[in-house]
Amino acid sequence: NRQIQLASRPTGEPSVDNFKLVELPLPELAEGQVLVRNHYLSLDPYMRGRMNEGKSYAQPQPLDQVMIGGTAGEVVASRNDYFKVGDKVVGMGGWQEYQLVSAEQRGALQKVDTTHIPLSAYLGAVGMPGVTAWYGLVKIINPKAGETVVVSAASGAVGGAVGQLAKVRGARAVGLAGGPEKCRQVVEELGFDACIDYKQHRDLKSLSAALKAECPNGIDGYFENVGGMILDAVLLRANAFSRVAMCGMISGYNGEPIPMQYPQLILTNRMKIEGFIVSEHMDIWPEALKELGTLVATKKLKYRETVAEGIAAAPEAFLGLLKGKNFGKQLVKLI
Ligand code: NDP
Repeated sequence: NRQIQLASRPTGEPSVDNFKLVELPLPELAEGQVLVRNHYLSLDPYMRGRMNEGKSYAQPQPLDQVMIGGTAGEVVASRNDYFKVGDKVVGMGGWQEYQLVSAEQRGALQKVDTTHIPLSAYLGAVGMPGVTAWYGLVKIINPKAGETVVVSAASGAVGGAVGQLAKVRGARAVGLAGGPEKCRQVVEELGFDACIDYKQHRDLKSLSAALKAECPNGIDGYFENVGGMILDAVLLRANAFSRVAMCGMISGYNGEPIPMQYPQLILTNRMKIEGFIVSEHMDIWPEALKELGTLVATKKLKYRETVAEGIAAAPEAFLGLLKGKNFGKQLVKLI
């Protein structure tokens, strides 16, 4: 069983040297245990926070242990009545090829049906990122038909779903993404009304003018994934009583300061700004997954994946995700 462990903590930008590949023997199965062969590993921005020492909303990732992470795979051996060999399952298996689950941890594995939904989608649109999009959009922004919703990191796993869920509710969806190719895909493949290449706008005035052009009726809802200048530009175009779902601030994950230039606009626009952590809202997961699953199975919710091959490729792929090299959900296929 090959796994990636955290070898050291980064200061600022992480590097491949912060990780190490370790090979461990596979243990014998005890009564009640299940062995899962992980087929896909999910790479997510929150893992950057876990690499740090300080406690955030979650505990830091311990050194010299397998990196935390969501996984999708298949039961290959079972001494547990509930799980049969061949069952497709998702869980938090970590950055490794195999995962041993004991009877007491049964809740750590969920069986999934891959008849109409591909296994990998359970780590993206029909998994944690999809539910994240759903929670912020439905429970915080709650757009009405005809309103305008803006989302940053729009080509990503979360952002792509946000715009499409907004469109389903009759709202205008405007994305922000890095580069013309990502923006083209956000409009043509994901069906957003418009997408702004934020990299073409080095100053606030220019970015806010671009938002004005694409949001002629102002902004009613903003789904924040990035922070910094993008947030300021949105605030400058926000309507009275607009809502902001604070989901992520990836532009500051390596410790960069992310100042806010116009906090007074929150007051003058009477805005609601709410941060959330999706794993603290388990009560809404069934409802969210029902809508997301139906939309994906009927091909009404589109998504894209960037797939790195083999466990050894995980660190490089993770660093790429933090730099926007991914296009949609970043996965590692364990071959
Ligand atoms: P993405 O697939 O969106 O990948 C991250 C993207 O962020 C990159 O592709 C890149 O896109 C963009 N990005 C990276 N650095 C910057 C930067 N400095 N400025 C602007 N954009 C940048 O990841 P996810 O969909 O998995 O996650 C999106 C956000 O949601 C993250 O902030 C994440 O932390 C957050 N999140 C929060 C959760 C919660 O419970 N609150 C749960 C899950 C995710 P581009 O090339 O367009 O710049």
